Amino acid sequence: MFNALVVEKNDDGTTHASVQQINLSQLPDADVTVDVEHSTVNYKDGLCIGPGGGLVRNYPHIPGIDFAGTVSDSSDARYVPGDKVVLTGWRVGEAHWGGYSQKARVKADWLVPLPEALTTRQAMAIGTAGFTAMLAINELEQQGLTPEKGTVLVTGASGGVGSVATTILASLGYDVAAVTGRPETIQYLKNLGANHIVPREELSEPTKKPLDSEKWAACIDAVGGTMLARVLTQMKYGGSVAAVGLAGGAALSTTVIPFLLRGVTLLGIDSVMQPYENRLNVWKRLASDLPMENLEMMIEAATLQDLPKLGADILKGQIKGRVVVDVN
Ligand code: NDP
Repeated sequence: MFNALVVEKNDDGTTHASVQQINLSQLPDADVTVDVEHSTVNYKDGLCIGPGGGLVRNYPHIPGIDFAGTVSDSSDARYVPGDKVVLTGWRVGEAHWGGYSQKARVKADWLVPLPEALTTRQAMAIGTAGFTAMLAINELEQQGLTPEKGTVLVTGASGGVGSVATTILASLGYDVAAVTGRPETIQYLKNLGANHIVPREELSEPTKKPLDSEKWAACIDAVGGTMLARVLTQMKYGGSVAAVGLAGGAALSTTVIPFLLRGVTLLGIDSVMQPYENRLNVWKRLASDLPMENLEMMIEAATLQDLPKLGADILKGQIKGRVVVDVN
């Protein structure tokens, strides 16, 4: 028997989450069983711990879109007991039981060997949020972004994606402007390497102007909605925006003028279905380009029991940085 956070559906259609004892035979069929050491809390986890946001199909459900741990059993030749592994994406924790559990069973195809330079705790401090931040930076650089091109804007900066993006960009020599709605996180963002702080209200109202003055060479946008529409009007000629998230809304009301008159590029970023080779590249780059002392500044420690509250907090935009869940 082992512990897991189980979400169950009530008769009235609502859900509730509690830590329960599970046995191995209840885990889904798959190739590799992992003794989970750490997991984390992403925005999507908030949805899946709560009412599901349409992501969870079947109940009872074990959420947790990320985990890192040690293989205990494997029928796939790529993994043997004792291997350290990390998992993000592939709809684990949504369509498949996830990492809020002392044991998880998943397809070998979904796993990545834990980079040697990282502990399972550091890997989960990074998690899907940090993985996605690195992916977005890779994509922007493939579009030609270099520090000489100008300031890079990061929206939702005190959140998970934003914190990791801010600190990696700063350590790579970029001039970073961090957008936040929480004045109490300004010092934190400066410590992570942000040179400029942009108050959220400056970008939260719609504008009728199709173009504003040129400010940003690139943007990593975790917020979407009106903020993304505003940012598009402020991009420098030839700049790119990596659309990562929707913390402020999914709808996008804009004009094509920034694309036509300034050659702006809007890049879609998806971490869930990334092919294996690119996952390896992203993890390798995280291990080398993310300053571990700055990662430590982002971490809040938690246990399985803390998850119902943390899930609700992240949906309200109240988590700063990254939560690391010690499932044991
Ligand atoms: P967090 O909650 O940690 O961060 C989101 C941040 O956005 C908040 O901390 C807050 O930052 C800001 N924010 C929250 N609500 C609003 C609002 N109404 N208007 C403006 N800003 C707001 O979440 P994550 O970093 O884990 O994820 C961020 C987004 O990225 C989510 O939408 C998530 O679903 C998405 N995502 C997408 C992935 C992909 O593969 N495309 C992978 C990972 C995440 P502050 O207080 O500093 O303003």
